[in-house]
Amino acid sequence: MSSFNSLGLIEPLQQALSELGYRRPTSVQSEAIPQVLAGQDLVAEAQTGTGKTAAFALPLLQRLAGDTGASARALILVPTRELAQQVCQSLEAYGRYLVLRPVALFGGSRADVQIRKLERGADILVATPGRLLDLIDRDIVSLSQLELLILDEADRMLDLGFIADMRRICEQRPAGCQTLLFSATLSGSIESLIEELLHRPRWVRVDRRNSAAKTVQQIAYGVDQRDKADILSYLIQGGQWQQALVFTRTKKRADQVAAYLQEEGIDAAALHGDKPQRERQQVLAAFARGVLRILVATDVAARGLHIDALPRVVNYDLPQVPEAYVHRIGRTGRAGGSGQAISLVAPDERRLLQAIEAALGRQLPLKPVPFFGQEMGGDTAESPKSARKPRNRATRTAKPKAASKPQPQADDTGGRAVRPSLLSGAKRRR
Ligand code: AMP
Repeated sequence: MSSFNSLGLIEPLQQALSELGYRRPTSVQSEAIPQVLAGQDLVAEAQTGTGKTAAFALPLLQRLAGDTGASARALILVPTRELAQQVCQSLEAYGRYLVLRPVALFGGSRADVQIRKLERGADILVATPGRLLDLIDRDIVSLSQLELLILDEADRMLDLGFIADMRRICEQRPAGCQTLLFSATLSGSIESLIEELLHRPRWVRVDRRNSAAKTVQQIAYGVDQRDKADILSYLIQGGQWQQALVFTRTKKRADQVAAYLQEEGIDAAALHGDKPQRERQQVLAAFARGVLRILVATDVAARGLHIDALPRVVNYDLPQVPEAYVHRIGRTGRAGGSGQAISLVAPDERRLLQAIEAALGRQLPLKPVPFFGQEMGGDTAESPKSARKPRNRATRTAKPKAASKPQPQADDTGGRAVRPSLLSGAKRRR
């Protein structure tokens, strides 16, 4: 098994890694780091959670560590502001014993603050395409000294419609600029982009295309659409979940679900693109610190988010495209840790489930929602009886008893829960 030392990393980086508790490189790191250090262009098919950030950040820092002076010697292009901030923080953490300065540039936040940071000197830019092009057009940023360009989450940048911006940015690279492309999934358009932008790249593939982290236990519950909020609240409380990231299809639904959980006495907040940037940052920070219990988010907002040891992701709504499912569940089970991904699948989402199964190459059989007291995927070993009972749910008081009853079977509802106590009489607020 390789070590960071055997990959040829310099001592200041190794020191930082050891302080961060990184004992061994992950497989994408073992494969990518030596090739990037050797100056190769590289394509890495690696999903988030595999350690891909360090796979490019470490050799990048080492390549630049030798001499300082020119600004913008490396650029990491990312799809979202959250990812820009996160990658910048990783660079600061890995480079704590080096004198290189990364600066994050992203929209939705004041440009003048970012420009002041640039004026103090920035060796590495971590940017979203729109804001970067704006600063280039205003002659505030020049890419003429660029030695390394990294396109992170390139598939996502294409999904978000950044293709023209990515091309324009790449045109500004000086000849010979080393270019790396990271993508969780590869499509025909990514492949043509690789052909266009990279020079005889090496390939690193750490996981089968579209496969999810193996450490994530995937569960699909068959439910009725109108019961979803109720079931989510029941699972959180009955399973004593410490933390979960819940995905909804729309911003409005994220707000509704968060409001519903709050009414149930569960600490929850919504995160989506309509929220002011400041509020988004506060919510993310609270969730990352473990202060906020449930974060209800849309795909765009949750992109790039990483929380160490996040135990659980819930697909409140299945995503429209299977790739989004892979990204979502990649928020848990990171860097070899275990995690659980729970999907609430309504009858009208069966088609989406089939598409996900086809992409994963495995079945996700629909199960009934467990009775209180059955294996609910709890975060503590305590008896679920100690879970705070939901307000206004007289029907739930019978749940501990139900645990000793025969287990409900999937019936002709196609795996939907047969739990009269939950499904009847429960007040519906959505
Ligand atoms: P990423 O795939 O870059 O989003 O990284 C996922 C998580 O794994 C982050 O929390 C990293 O801090 C962590 N990580 C990356 N590489 C290692 C490693 N070699 N050992 C332990 N944790 C790591």
